[in-house]
Amino acid sequence: MECQERTEIPKLMEISEVVYEGKGQKSFFFRHSLNCRPGQFVMVWLPDVDEKPMAVSYINKNEFAFTSQVVGKWTSALDKLKKHDKVWMRGPYGSSFSIKKNACVVGGGVGMASVSTLIDKLKDPTIINGARSKEHLIYLKRYKNKNLIAVTDDGSYGKKGFTTDSLKELLNDNNNKIKIVYTCGPEIMMKKVFDICNKYKVECEASLERMMKCGFGVCGVCMVNDQIVCMDGPVFNSKQLSKMSEFGSFARLKTGRKVTINEYHSIHA
Ligand SMILES: Cc1cc2nc3c(=O)[nH]c(=O)nc-3n(C[C@H](O)[C@H](O)[C@H](O)COP(=O)(O)OP(=O)(O)OC[C@H]3O[C@@H](n4cnc5c(N)ncnc54)[C@H](O)[C@@H]3O)c2cc1C
Repeated sequence: MECQERTEIPKLMEISEVVYEGKGQKSFFFRHSLNCRPGQFVMVWLPDVDEKPMAVSYINKNEFAFTSQVVGKWTSALDKLKKHDKVWMRGPYGSSFSIKKNACVVGGGVGMASVSTLIDKLKDPTIINGARSKEHLIYLKRYKNKNLIAVTDDGSYGKKGFTTDSLKELLNDNNNKIKIVYTCGPEIMMKKVFDICNKYKVECEASLERMMKCGFGVCGVCMVNDQIVCMDGPVFNSKQLSKMSEFGSFARLKTGRKVTINEYHSIHA
């Protein structure tokens, strides 16, 4: 993956650094330049465990990283890896965010990872960074010089409440100049963000973090209506989202079975 086109064949890559970002959240750095646009992801294979999608969260000269949050078997195995350990990787894959002026970026939890390289490219965005509590908020230092509104569910840091409360406040302010909202996080949050954007007639782009298996459009596990998230997404704009009736309502299990979002979360709780 040395500053080149995407690779379909996994390459063995050595971890050059592991950075603690928050509770159960770490960034894994690789000393390779990656030709990648904001919002794109790589497929990371841990042999004998699984292969999973990870958004590229840092793109520096000759270096890139992804940021993972421990939620299950694969992310727990990844969490144990150290500097000089190796993982297999292919990509980058997927659609990317547009780069527009007068932007607000709403990140929920580790969803901030998917919008972070976008933030690095935008001119003076307003960032709403939300998490359950202070220990789960990532990138506070990284964006300390930006216009950042930190929000926690329990009020342990920043404003108490949800990211969507802060977004409403921002768009309600008559002096606001926001023309587009970019978002990534739990789908329930993104659906609310999308509805708020529609109400205030502001454009929206969301990165859908669906259950994904193959990453190249074959298995169909990540389908939302007729959209294949790994190929057509993961970033979708307002026009596309408005045609996706399953967005925020239905999801698919690992088996591909379609269930309501509530059932999906109760199974994975
Ligand atoms: C395009 C894309 C980019 C992603 N980027 C990141 C990232 O930057 N950092 C990060 O931590 N996670 C990211 N994810 C989600 C990540 O792939 C899953 O958290 C991971 O696959 C969980 O694997 P597991 O074996 O640890 O957990 P599992 O045991 O498989 O599942 C545990 C929990 O994670 C959820 N989950 C499992 N697989 C996925 C999946 N593919 N997508 C969404 N939720 C899933 C389940 O609903 C469940 O709640 C991304 C997903 C997509 C589709």
